[in-house]
Amino acid sequence: MVTEKLIGIISKMYNISNPMDWPAIDRFILLASLVLFVPVGFGGMLLATNMAAPQYLNQSLVPYLLTLYAAHAIILSALILEAFRKRKNTNDWPAFENFIIGSYILVVMLSAYLTGTHFSEGLLLIFLGVNITCTLASVNKIRICYWFVVPTLFVMGATDFMPSVPYAQLLDQSPIASSGRPMFGWLVLRAIIVTILAFLIYLCILAMKRWVERENLYQEMSMIDGLTRLSNRSSFINRGMEEIELVQRKHAPSNTSLACIMIDLDHFKIINDTWGHHAGDEVLVAASKIMMDNSRKNDEVGRYGGEEFAILLPGTSMKKAAYIAESLRRKLESTVVNVDGQTIKVTASFGVACYPSQDIQTMSDLLKTADKALYEAKETGRNKVVIACQPNEQPQKAVLQSIMMHKKIPT
Ligand code: GH3
Ligand code: MG
Ligand code: MG
Repeated sequence: MVTEKLIGIISKMYNISNPMDWPAIDRFILLASLVLFVPVGFGGMLLATNMAAPQYLNQSLVPYLLTLYAAHAIILSALILEAFRKRKNTNDWPAFENFIIGSYILVVMLSAYLTGTHFSEGLLLIFLGVNITCTLASVNKIRICYWFVVPTLFVMGATDFMPSVPYAQLLDQSPIASSGRPMFGWLVLRAIIVTILAFLIYLCILAMKRWVERENLYQEMSMIDGLTRLSNRSSFINRGMEEIELVQRKHAPSNTSLACIMIDLDHFKIINDTWGHHAGDEVLVAASKIMMDNSRKNDEVGRYGGEEFAILLPGTSMKKAAYIAESLRRKLESTVVNVDGQTIKVTASFGVACYPSQDIQTMSDLLKTADKALYEAKETGRNKVVIACQPNEQPQKAVLQSIMMHKKIPT
């Protein structure tokens, strides 16, 4: 949208960050500046109507209402100036926030009641004001305000049914002519309010959009490892648990097994100690890339710990997983990572396990078993693949041999 692009360009030009990232007092200043439109706009409209068509207005109320709008505008402006002074020493000013929210609700509800628009434009103004306030001020205070707004609306609604209480007390004559058509001035007034509402709706959309973006960002941050961009440990485990449930639901273990490969880079501490932590990070990123590039769309590659990784392979047999692990091992072994003109080589040890099997009933069992196999790979020389075996089972020699001889293993 053109407006959004324009706002983006202005923000960049003046180096303005998103208001939701501002300190509380700055957000209140913005909110107060928006709220200032209410007494200025309402007061201006009342003054203009009183000059153009005074016969339509209840003259006993006009001076009080004009005084209220003027007082509201003056107090808000004074508080905005004071907030500008205060922001040099403090980040928060709760009393300012209370006044902005409270006075907005009072002035809007009173004006809506006196013009008989409390269930139409007035309600919309309150609703949109609440949405914008939620993003710039305390959501908890909004909740308290609702405790005031809802019962007050009930009372207003009840008075509408009482013949003894005049309806739309500010209006001395109905703005609807006897022909049923609204008066021109009334239409103009409503058009102005609709324009203000459209602006507020646009602000609400921006605020909602920002909420969704934040939500997605936080969700991503809680699931993705910042350095390697792989799934982090907890999201990896969650995916594993989901996959195990899926295998259980399918009741066809032969072709729905879930394999897990645990990987630990060999002597990684030496890489850090020799070339520095920064180089170590580059190696971690390069290793992650190899794992990602060599995994299928449905596989889950995760960073399990510092220099430990894990891959989940849904619908993959033990043999196939062992073959994939061996192919990864070779790729890593033959990779050279260039950091600041230095060439660094890295190898890794692999442990492979598969669900379901005799000792593996849960995701935790699958991880423990793959980890045990990985430990064995470390113990017996590193830079190798070890397949987990059952307690009474012979090591799967045929599988290992065919891997070593670069043969393709049938699935
Ligand atoms: P082994 O072959 O037995 O696995 O030896 P190792 O040196 O790889 O294992 P060890 O557990 O002794 O050391 C792991 C090192 O990984 C220590 C830690 O500082 C480093 N490490 C962990 N996370 C990061 C990281 O995010 N970046 C970098 N550069 N190093 C990390
Ligand atoms: Mg290691
Ligand atoms: Mg380790």
